[in-house]
Amino acid sequence: MLVRHYVQSQEYRRRLVPFFRRVAWRTLFSTNRRAFSAMVRVTLGRALRWLPMTVKARRLGVRLPMTLQVADEVACRASCANCCFTAFSGQRERLDFATLDRLFDEALALNVTIVYLMGADPFYRDDADGFLDLVARHRGQLFFLFTEGKRLTDAHLERIRRAGNILPTINIDGLRDATDRRKGAGSFEVVDALLAKLHAAKMPFLVTTMVSRENFDEVTGAAFARWLDDRGAWMIAYLPYTPADAAAERGLVMDEPMRLRLFERSLGLNREVRRLVVLDLLGIEQHLTACPAAAYSVTVYHDGTVTPCPAATFGDRDGNIHRRSLEDIYVNGRLYRGIRALRAQAGGSLACLFYTDKKFFREYLSANRDSVNVLNPGATQVLQEGP
Ligand code: SF4
Repeated sequence: MLVRHYVQSQEYRRRLVPFFRRVAWRTLFSTNRRAFSAMVRVTLGRALRWLPMTVKARRLGVRLPMTLQVADEVACRASCANCCFTAFSGQRERLDFATLDRLFDEALALNVTIVYLMGADPFYRDDADGFLDLVARHRGQLFFLFTEGKRLTDAHLERIRRAGNILPTINIDGLRDATDRRKGAGSFEVVDALLAKLHAAKMPFLVTTMVSRENFDEVTGAAFARWLDDRGAWMIAYLPYTPADAAAERGLVMDEPMRLRLFERSLGLNREVRRLVVLDLLGIEQHLTACPAAAYSVTVYHDGTVTPCPAATFGDRDGNIHRRSLEDIYVNGRLYRGIRALRAQAGGSLACLFYTDKKFFREYLSANRDSVNVLNPGATQVLQEGP
């Protein structure tokens, strides 16, 4: 339910399924009633829509996506050091509630039941309550709500608990010193207290951890994983530090051998904890499954641009949800059709087009200079670097 990969090899099953059983066990036996009901409701909804959605996929001639990533309100005010959203600090545009409402409905019509709300920390919005209520109304979907956790009040927690379909996804990039350095003095205490409250209320929650050369040893160490295990986190998802703007510290970027070590270390850490699941999401895409872009997931940015994924911050100018429906862009958009054609040529499976095999994105950007909307030139610069 919480993690889905559309290509599942024997190796994937051998290495990951034992850990996913922990998630299933916790869903059944240590989740509060509202969250459990939401998960059951979403699963049943998918089961009931299986036939109509299979017919729809055949008619449209594409695999329907399962996840939607929304990177909204990207000029995040939390200002954590080295966050990829620092590159967007001047961009004030955001999706209004009516557009988000329609977007979630359109996503469900494509059978998308998992939505990652991964732009700015929503608890810095002055309309955070309205935002939570809007998300809660979309009862056929589960929402992973990304936050750094410091602004999440008891009243917000109660709203989230009542909704059931919202899973806090808290960014934590280290233990006390690292957290206070990155997010300000006293931040660790606040986040630690938040985890304790979530645990006490049996609310499922995840942790995202940005990994760089600087914090590699700490966040892949047993002490970090055991602390989060004790605090009741369901999952750690590692994400590689990616330089996103001129101020980015390029010396922090992990090289390939280090990324491989992260992947192996994440699998090994699962054996050192009891209930937590530790995943290197990009490593899994690179070594055990495949790139999900345009086949399994769809991403929308703050100005309505549909991009291949949160890392690849560009899209066709006419691939914008303010002008066309999500279904139309997903099925007929030039960029998405191009990625699917590439996947078909490659026999159904693709390496990461952003970090590993950059040729397609590079060529697409150069051939469509006038019709592509580049949201963050810093991220597209990454595509020009390396092989
Ligand atoms: S291009 Fe890379 S980062 Fe983006 S979805 Fe594909 S595998 Fe993930």
